[in-house]
Amino acid sequence: MNAAASNAARVVSGRMLFRSTRSPDDAGVPFAEALERGLAPDGGLYVPVTWPRFSPSDFADCRDLPSIGTRLLKPFLTGDRLEPDLPAICREAFNFQAPLVPVGRADGFAVLELFHGPTAAFKDFGARFLASALTRLRTDAQRLLNILVATSGDTGGAVAAAFHGRRTAQVSVLYPRGLVSPTQERQLTCWGDNVQAFRVMGTFDDCQRIAKEAFGDADLRQRFDLSSANSINVGRLLPQMVYYAAASLAAWRRVQVAPSFIIPAGNLGNAAACIWARQVGLPIGEVVLAHNANRTVPDYLANGRWQPRASRATLASAMDVGDPSNMERLRTMFPTLAALTTAVSADSVDDAAIEARIKSDFRAYQQIWCPHTATAAEVYARLPPDRRLGQHWIMVATAHPAKFREIVEPLLGIDVPVPEALAALLTRATSFRDLAPDLAALKHALSH
Ligand SMILES: *Cc1c(COP(=O)(O)O)cnc(C)c1O
Repeated sequence: MNAAASNAARVVSGRMLFRSTRSPDDAGVPFAEALERGLAPDGGLYVPVTWPRFSPSDFADCRDLPSIGTRLLKPFLTGDRLEPDLPAICREAFNFQAPLVPVGRADGFAVLELFHGPTAAFKDFGARFLASALTRLRTDAQRLLNILVATSGDTGGAVAAAFHGRRTAQVSVLYPRGLVSPTQERQLTCWGDNVQAFRVMGTFDDCQRIAKEAFGDADLRQRFDLSSANSINVGRLLPQMVYYAAASLAAWRRVQVAPSFIIPAGNLGNAAACIWARQVGLPIGEVVLAHNANRTVPDYLANGRWQPRASRATLASAMDVGDPSNMERLRTMFPTLAALTTAVSADSVDDAAIEARIKSDFRAYQQIWCPHTATAAEVYARLPPDRRLGQHWIMVATAHPAKFREIVEPLLGIDVPVPEALAALLTRATSFRDLAPDLAALKHALSH
């Protein structure tokens, strides 16, 4: 029996459980419970208690995202209420492509496009999987599931799209007035039906605070089944492993090398998923984090001092995070700085370099990057030549540039073509309700 088979056997024999990052000795809870809770009761984030182990040949007969997802995630759901539904959840969640597109003529550099879902950003993968899984757990529930999501732009749209039209759930999106892009605002306010958008007279921090207060409010919790669909939910992280599996296997099959990834990073959810994929045995080399001017992680890897700070507004706004929550998951896996710096490296890219990279790569490759993707392209260009040319690199495109056309079009002097799905959203009628930045206003609004 080879190693993969014996490990698979070990997982199958027991249930896979998830424990809190803050309780190393916890027995853990099954996937469905981690999914419904979001955050662990001690305030930590859920991580797998044990890791399954794969080799590339385990995926020999898997050619598309749903089949790779089903194979990869099955051990994580072993013994769980949702295990029988996993193939259907994967088919429902991964119903669009994640193509690997070569960049330029040189072999060995490609972009993984994660923006072909309904809201044109990678968050569609996690949000759709979470929505599909959560609503399946609720088919017999007496009450609607009330999803409350605070957003600085992309998350709210992906969650709204994923839950829109589902009979068992109701979504309230809180976003800060004047602080999301016009295209983003349309994506937050175009749904109707079971999705309600609230334009909050305050900042993203106000939106987050109100949502947090709502979850802690006994009266609201008695009247509604509240859930957060938050990006720290393990139900959003696991599905993000799937496109890393698919991309690394594609490169492996073609040239028998384990590709390295450069990932635009904010809260580190996308990067954590890549590291988890490597952890379970997928052929992945280096993982490099591309941050914007919010330097908390690059500074930590350089000087060993963890100094979270207030976020700074940048052109790559979905990555404006000064205290990345998923660092807690990475430190659980790599408890020492030495271990962490062996596992990942990081660089920081300021707004001027984002703008310059969008322009220069358009000239060089006729490729249009969104500001987030441009951080990864810049980090790639800054790699020392021997490291850059000696490996197979995949940079991750987290959003379609049309989502940020207010930034990209003036730089390039062209109209950015809008993908069909996004164009369809942008023609829908919009509606929102204004909300004062306090819990009382939200309570009133939810009741009327
Ligand atoms: C959310 C987001 C990011 C950051 O992803 P994390 O998982 O928070 O690191 C990067 N780019 C885009 C377009 C995003 O929406």
